[in-house]
Amino acid sequence: MKKFISIFLAILIVFSLTSCNTKISKKPSKLAVYATFYPLYDLTKKIAGDKATVQNIIPPGVEPHDWEPTTKQIADIEGASLVVYLGLGMDSWISKVESSVSGPKFVNVSNGIDAIKVGNAVNPHVWLSPKEAQILAKNIKDALVNADNKNAKYYEDNYNTLLNTLKQLDSEYTERLKNTKTKTFIVYHSAFDYVARDYGLNQVSIVGMSEEAEASPAKVAEVIQLIKKENIKYIFTEPLTSPKPIQSIASETGAKVLPLNTIEGLTKDEMKKGYDYIKLLQQNLDNLQKALN
Ligand SMILES: [Zn+2]
Repeated sequence: MKKFISIFLAILIVFSLTSCNTKISKKPSKLAVYATFYPLYDLTKKIAGDKATVQNIIPPGVEPHDWEPTTKQIADIEGASLVVYLGLGMDSWISKVESSVSGPKFVNVSNGIDAIKVGNAVNPHVWLSPKEAQILAKNIKDALVNADNKNAKYYEDNYNTLLNTLKQLDSEYTERLKNTKTKTFIVYHSAFDYVARDYGLNQVSIVGMSEEAEASPAKVAEVIQLIKKENIKYIFTEPLTSPKPIQSIASETGAKVLPLNTIEGLTKDEMKKGYDYIKLLQQNLDNLQKALN
């Protein structure tokens, strides 16, 4: 009987070992990629197509400035092959993730961008300019090719299609914003520094680089004066957060409110309509052109 039990145990051990082995050797069939927030997620998805599973770390509809990952979210990233992040102070929490997980490769996709300095910091909102977006797309494509070389041709093809779309948008921004009646536009937080620089406009913002900041009464009064003096007809709100001071400035001055999307995340309505990053860049151009003429 003893002999029988030990043979039985031996078989059991061999079985459990082989089942363990098959589990370990079973690799995920697709490259697993994480992107820190919406614009990077959408660009990555457009290049990765169906060769990779791309996940957005910051949930859609969540404002990403000052966001922090939970322990569970950090643990989930361990299983990925690649994490793309922006840098420039937008997703600085990524350093905490990078030091906590050993699985994925981390790639900063703002490399090569001529960043706009604001005091000791830099303005991170590069994705709002189709000119800068081309650099992001190139860095994302290179990261995918390095992580999954057997699909290099596929990623290159998708990238070229995306690059054509971004170049087309860049020309449209240049053309349609070249001869506007006025060059000054008013926004809540200074997300459009790169749009202003790349297309020769003048952005006036009520708060600084993060919409978390409080609007100072002095700044609000200054903007109201500016609107009256320059006879500005439109001011811009942000669909994701709808900041209150914009509404009060509008009712004080009679200026109309138009959306100018910071594309930091999608609203429920934008998701329902199937909008993407490119669609929102086009919408921003339409509204800029309208406000400046
Ligand atoms: Zn922002």
